[in-house]
Amino acid sequence: MWSRRRFLEGISTLPLVGGILGSGALLTGAEQARNVAANVGRDYFKELGIRPFINAAGTFTDMTASLMVPEAMEAIDYAADHFVMLSELHDAVGQRIASLVQADAAMVTTGAASAMTLGTAGVLTGTDRQKVMLLPNLVDMKTEVIIQKAHRFGYDHAVRNCGVRLVEVETVPELERAVTWHTAMMLFYNNNNLVGQIPDVEFVRLGKKHGIPTFNDAAADVPPVENLWKYTKMGFDLVCFSGGKGLRGPQSAGLLLGRKDLIAAARLNAPPNGDAIGRGMKVNKEEMLGMLAALEAYLKKDHAAERREFDSRAETIKQSATAVPGVEAEIFVPEVANHVPHVRLSWDPAKVGVQPEDVIRLLRDGEPSIRVRPGSEVVVGVWMMRPGEDKIVARRLREVFERKS
Ligand SMILES: *Cc1c(COP(=O)(O)O)cnc(C)c1O
Repeated sequence: MWSRRRFLEGISTLPLVGGILGSGALLTGAEQARNVAANVGRDYFKELGIRPFINAAGTFTDMTASLMVPEAMEAIDYAADHFVMLSELHDAVGQRIASLVQADAAMVTTGAASAMTLGTAGVLTGTDRQKVMLLPNLVDMKTEVIIQKAHRFGYDHAVRNCGVRLVEVETVPELERAVTWHTAMMLFYNNNNLVGQIPDVEFVRLGKKHGIPTFNDAAADVPPVENLWKYTKMGFDLVCFSGGKGLRGPQSAGLLLGRKDLIAAARLNAPPNGDAIGRGMKVNKEEMLGMLAALEAYLKKDHAAERREFDSRAETIKQSATAVPGVEAEIFVPEVANHVPHVRLSWDPAKVGVQPEDVIRLLRDGEPSIRVRPGSEVVVGVWMMRPGEDKIVARRLREVFERKS
């Protein structure tokens, strides 16, 4: 929650602000404070007819992904009350973040997707302001980005926003043949490191050999915390992370890390510059500080203790579900992205009497509402639950399987 108290204090020390700036009615500070107080405790979602739910899925954008840590909310609340120069804040926060994650340079973006667009833009334009204005029209710029076929994914659209063409390759010789005077960048999808034929270290080596910048999209790949420096140290020129997934910063924030010259070029393609491809990707002071505070909190946290808590939640859910005859549960941890415990439930619908889609629907429509991962099987993600919610999910799963409600 935003700190209303601080807002109210601020208001009460400025008795005539409402009177001077208010629309029409001349309100005293006290009157204005009363108006704000009337909003305290308002149930906005209820008013709007929106039903919140227990997140038993994970950091899905359509489910609003993650809840910010209190440190991020505090920083947002602090920032909201001041004016600063946006570029100065970008510089200072970028430097602080770079030192925290041992990168040469860093910038806060509006999510990993915007980091991909701005990073690509920086690679294409360098610090040429004329080119910044022209993008996505690639006049006098390189036009191609090499990617392994097995690394194509929906988010590569964020790179294609810059007008470049993706050139697909599968093997090392193919990649080397694909490098031409038109090659701007080489894009890597971290989650598919083991799927493509060219693994990360080899990909970086090839980039350096041919003098082509490499970009690694590791958006969903913390935990483990070491990933925040692993890939820049490996030699990727640019690496991005989502701010609102495992880091639990603002959902509209992300990190672009990497080479100083490329981050400086990416910055030129972003606000406060108005004539740039990234103008619609504005990070204001609130998200900037919120992101920094969330990152600091993430680096300080006891990761082993957190993992034990996630393991225990998964076990609670497994025990409860498998107490129903015929229901089986398997705990698994995805290799790269979303590297935290999940519980996959399986059963014979003919014996247990419900289909997976029934379970998903009954959980969603029940009290409280619970959302598991979307899909044709029932998979529970435990890391975005609030403390204690694992027990509620465990109980509800059992009730649903036993068809009590
Ligand atoms: C979530 C995700 C993105 C987009 O991240 P945002 O922070 O929501 O912009 C990009 N790439 C991958 C692999 C992702 O998982």
